[in-house]
Amino acid sequence: MSERPFNFSAGPAALPEEVLNQVREELLDYRGSGMSVMEMSHRSPEFIEIAEAAEADLRALLGAPDDYRLLFLQGGATTQFAAVPLNLIDGKAVADYVETGSWSTKAIKEAGRYCNVNVAATSAAEGFNQIPPFDAWRLDSAAAYLHICGNETIGGVQFHSYPDCGVPLVADLSSELLSRPIDVTQFGLIYAGAQKNIGPAGLTLVIVHEDLLGRAAAHTPAMLDYAVQAKAGSMSNTPPTFAWYVAGLVFKWLRSLGGLAGIAARNEAKAGRLYDAVDTSNFYHSPVVEADRSLMNVPFTLADPRLDAAFLEGAKARGLTNLKGHRSVGGMRASLYNAVPEAAVTALVDYMNDFERESA
Ligand SMILES: *Cc1c(COP(=O)(O)O)cnc(C)c1O
Repeated sequence: MSERPFNFSAGPAALPEEVLNQVREELLDYRGSGMSVMEMSHRSPEFIEIAEAAEADLRALLGAPDDYRLLFLQGGATTQFAAVPLNLIDGKAVADYVETGSWSTKAIKEAGRYCNVNVAATSAAEGFNQIPPFDAWRLDSAAAYLHICGNETIGGVQFHSYPDCGVPLVADLSSELLSRPIDVTQFGLIYAGAQKNIGPAGLTLVIVHEDLLGRAAAHTPAMLDYAVQAKAGSMSNTPPTFAWYVAGLVFKWLRSLGGLAGIAARNEAKAGRLYDAVDTSNFYHSPVVEADRSLMNVPFTLADPRLDAAFLEGAKARGLTNLKGHRSVGGMRASLYNAVPEAAVTALVDYMNDFERESA
């Protein structure tokens, strides 16, 4: 259909080509309205319909029960690092956090501005290459909630099951939400910036149990108060309308592929093939403990880092883009979000095999 390169960006990341084409078709005149969604009032009947359909499709995809509120907010996951303690600390002194990589470290630092943080477990000493085993976590019995980062986008470490800890479990699922089925009822609150696996930057999803609403600290900015946003239908001010619309198209695309079970099967196949290629070679190496590897972000290194630049250049020449690892860890990283097709992984694995042979 097109000659676009395969985009392995960690975020903002690839969007489904079908969705981009639909956006293009509807860009100047959204369904006979005579205007773009970008030019429409968020209170217009057209946009209200877009917003409600997106919420209903998201609820259906996740199987989220009615006692969870789905919020379409701004500010990115980073703003949620502050919003979570402001809303959930609820007069208590301490919250539990588990540290598994760069993003959970940032969440801990920001939460420390609003409450005491008990770092219940950390894999810092192991270079963040694993999830600390649940039975070694030192939870504080007075904690208001427990925060984890479900998928560390930079380190490529992912939870494949979640602990049951007796307090609300709060998860940053920015780089994995909608990549596979989850049981929403295991969580008190989930948040995710859209630009990894959901839609354009500018939209942040918050999925919150209604029992956690209305407990925000008095000095919480109204824009960050989940109860205020839930009451206003995420429209206490102008929401990110265009990003909301595009995310809604992504939700419909996912439903057409068999929902989260359908996309999960594809994602497992993609990641499986890439890890196989890494594991069966002596030239490529995965730094992450096998049981905790991410299906979304696959970091790998070359046996000789002096070949990194040549690897990236050759990849680009074959239409394989954005494979450079995060500056904090080096090496390579292939992000295999929902919109990255299986053909992209085929092309990457073929290239890796060729590059290894030529470098031997
Ligand atoms: C990208 C990312 C963030 C930061 O998201 P912003 O939307 O840029 O604030 C936080 N957590 C995780 C896991 C991420 O992947």
